[in-house]
Amino acid sequence: MVGATAACYAGRAVHEHGTDERGPAGGPDRGPLPLRSLEPAAAAAVRLVATDVDGTLTHGSGLDPQVVAAIAALVDAGVEVMPVSGRPSGEVLGLARYLPGVRRGIAENGMVEVVPDQPPRLLVPAVDRAALRELAQQVARAAGLALAVTADDPFRVVDVAFEREHRDDEVLAALARAAATQGLFVTWSSVHVHFTRQQPDKGAALLRAAGVPGEAIATIGDAPNDAGLFVAGRFGVTVGTADVLRQRAFMPAMPAYVTAAAESAGFLELARAILAARGHAPAA
Ligand SMILES: [Mg+2]
Repeated sequence: MVGATAACYAGRAVHEHGTDERGPAGGPDRGPLPLRSLEPAAAAAVRLVATDVDGTLTHGSGLDPQVVAAIAALVDAGVEVMPVSGRPSGEVLGLARYLPGVRRGIAENGMVEVVPDQPPRLLVPAVDRAALRELAQQVARAAGLALAVTADDPFRVVDVAFEREHRDDEVLAALARAAATQGLFVTWSSVHVHFTRQQPDKGAALLRAAGVPGEAIATIGDAPNDAGLFVAGRFGVTVGTADVLRQRAFMPAMPAYVTAAAESAGFLELARAILAARGHAPAA
């Protein structure tokens, strides 16, 4: 699926970092394994859960209250939980400050590390956002798309993002190919379409910021902008919510495991597996 998946990042695909996009658990054309097949020893070895936010901690448009309880339970069991989101630094800062036991996060698809009461730390060079936004909209108009700047744009530090407005993956893949001709990268989540001057990579940012070995990290996400979290060889456990299966043709990398449920119910499956393996009662 290399040809189809490469379009998503409109250039150098994640798997070109020297790894196999299928992941160690899946085989050719078999796809990710059910999360219920994760070995308890592997779940017990997790010291940090790096999680996407929209479509992973949320159900519909809101944060799932059961997720908040699960995060508190994981932290109580000695497992750090770190949001790794495409949302603006300002929004991730709020999550990092108020989610129970969470003390830092990665925002804007890996471009900024946020820690409450510290200035945001850029993980990529600063960009002229106005110029990038104008070029992105030119590319989109030429492709027949009128993209609306996200309402949360004032809270972004580096990223330029637009509302997805339920556009199909195929439409966004074509937009990514058009953007590549202008040297731009496009990726997308369930809610936003992002333009950048270098390949967005949540996983590379996480490895740089985590402070624990990749083998001790479990990652979970739901959409193409999470692909960097799924690259084989980077992390101990990589998990997609059930939503990744229908987007497979647009994922530069697939996780080793997939949950039975979609959205936040998928996150709860992972939390329960880790808590059980560590001998802790699951969150209510
Ligand atoms: Mg998401």
